[in-house]
Amino acid sequence: MNAEDSMSIRSRAMAALIRATGDDPARLGLTGTPERAARAHAELFDGYDINPQALLAKAMEPADGYAGLVLVRGIRLYSHCEHHMLPMEGLVHVGYLPDSHLLGLSKVARAIEVLTRQLQGQERLTREIADIIEKVAHPKGVAVAVVARHHCITERGVRQTDSDTVTVVTRGTLDSNPGLRRDFLGLCGLAG
Ligand SMILES: [Zn+2]
Repeated sequence: MNAEDSMSIRSRAMAALIRATGDDPARLGLTGTPERAARAHAELFDGYDINPQALLAKAMEPADGYAGLVLVRGIRLYSHCEHHMLPMEGLVHVGYLPDSHLLGLSKVARAIEVLTRQLQGQERLTREIADIIEKVAHPKGVAVAVVARHHCITERGVRQTDSDTVTVVTRGTLDSNPGLRRDFLGLCGLAG
């Protein structure tokens, strides 16, 4: 589908949603709203046309003797759940133990952003981040933790406003070595 088609489908859908809420998309205050909402929607879901793995692979450098844990903490997460299309927001923490190569730190954040600009599930997102880091950098170990609030839980249904969800995926030495795993969780503020 070309960009023009997808934008007109989005605009029509937004106008239909406004009508379904009981409002009138033709009233003065809503002039241009379906089109603006369509552009915002397109921006929030622009992660489908970019390959995050290729993006990450562009910014590798030799480890140059560094063999310690690399931790990128507190990467902002803003995505939409695939069950309700409602926002989920929180933080992503990524750790890896390099082998021969280091990852570009800003590209890690950018690759995660690409994955969040799709309809997502927190468990799948956590796994997909670990997958692309493994495939690109072949580290000795990788760990990903995601802490997120889901609006489908906090703002509707059970309205558990203080509840958040934590998901952790560990691979390689960050999985098999309990000390390293504990170090990662502790440095992310997730150790019990
Ligand atoms: Zn949901």
